[in-house]
Amino acid sequence: MSKDFSESEHKLSRRSLLGALPATAAGLALDSLAAKAAPQHSKEDVIKAEHNQSVTNPIGPANAALSQENPNSVLPPPTDHGEVPAFKYPFAFSHKRVQDGGWARQVTVEDFPVSKSIAGVNMRLTSGGIRELHWHKAAEWGIMLYGKARITAVDTGGEAFVDDVREGDIWNFPSGIPHSIQGLAPDGCEFLLVFDDGAFSEYNTTSLTDLLAHTPTGALAKSFGISRDALSTIPAFERYIFQGKVPGLLETDLRGATGRMGRSRPFDFHFAQMEPNKRTRGGEVRIVDSKNFPASTTIAAALVTVHPGGIRELHWHPNADEWQYYIKGSARMTIFATGARARTMDLQKGDVGYIEKTLPHYIENTGTTDLSFLEMFRSDHYEDISLSNWLSHTPPELVMQHLGFDKATFDAIPKEEIVVMPQ
Ligand code: MN
Ligand code: MN
Repeated sequence: MSKDFSESEHKLSRRSLLGALPATAAGLALDSLAAKAAPQHSKEDVIKAEHNQSVTNPIGPANAALSQENPNSVLPPPTDHGEVPAFKYPFAFSHKRVQDGGWARQVTVEDFPVSKSIAGVNMRLTSGGIRELHWHKAAEWGIMLYGKARITAVDTGGEAFVDDVREGDIWNFPSGIPHSIQGLAPDGCEFLLVFDDGAFSEYNTTSLTDLLAHTPTGALAKSFGISRDALSTIPAFERYIFQGKVPGLLETDLRGATGRMGRSRPFDFHFAQMEPNKRTRGGEVRIVDSKNFPASTTIAAALVTVHPGGIRELHWHPNADEWQYYIKGSARMTIFATGARARTMDLQKGDVGYIEKTLPHYIENTGTTDLSFLEMFRSDHYEDISLSNWLSHTPPELVMQHLGFDKATFDAIPKEEIVVMPQ
């Protein structure tokens, strides 16, 4: 049986049900997309109205907790069709590397095959906990999600960088720039790191202790110009994360690090404090890329808030794949993957989402609280095209012939990109 046939069956059974159902359930069937998100109606009502007895599940949900979190996988909207690879991976699935001083977990292309251009790391550092001095080939973009940290780096000329970052602050360490992160009092921090390479592994970086552990002691002594004996305290293996002492005043650390070349360009930015680029009744968006944060030459970001009932409107990105991280709330997203293929998935706090370049998508708040998520791109600039913006800047007669719209309906479509609806 072809999928087309089964879909037309869905539509037929939905239509034939309308007469038989009580008024509330009939309303649900007419607006099944909105009904999915509405907690006041039971799932049974929606299932009955939308698919009839053919989707009953006699042995119950295969995994009750996951099924409950993924209603659009348990029962996809009838507009979904064909094969679209999974575009969600929860950090909750990922292995946690726990050490004295904190932990790390990552989502890379190894576990999440679609995510070729970006990898992400979620890290916790205790008060005084140190992610040791290191660097890597990928650029690192970070955002503080909780607490405070002191970050350090050195620029190519020897210019020193030391600063403290708080919730909503971001940083960017370009490829090869050495850096460290340390949790501050009272309770350390938790943050997200984003790397401009899906194959990046946080466990294969160039760490100070790993490098020195694998350099012959004689060569090291000559390179530093100090005696071999003085090197006996160097660890024989990589420390990665370890418990350290809570650092003192920022000014003291900065003075201690700054030499002849002075202080570096800023590697951090108060992202959450910037004025939104757009604010509507539905929510707001802040965009940061190399235009307003020059250190971020390979990673662009949008921080989006969608209020309950709002939607990040249908759009796509011409220049890059989108990697998402859900900071709070819950959402659903449909990706239309060309050739009649579409898939809807539910996402929530702690999940990673991924949309390949040019594929259209929307993100709808399905909860009763604000939804907040990051859109990340391997690019020096943010770029998108909104469906409304496209249609409203195309000759009206041409659009109306495609969709059967009258002029009033066409005119009702927003005449600019709104980003988060309603306007
Ligand atoms: Mn790093
Ligand atoms: Mn997008």
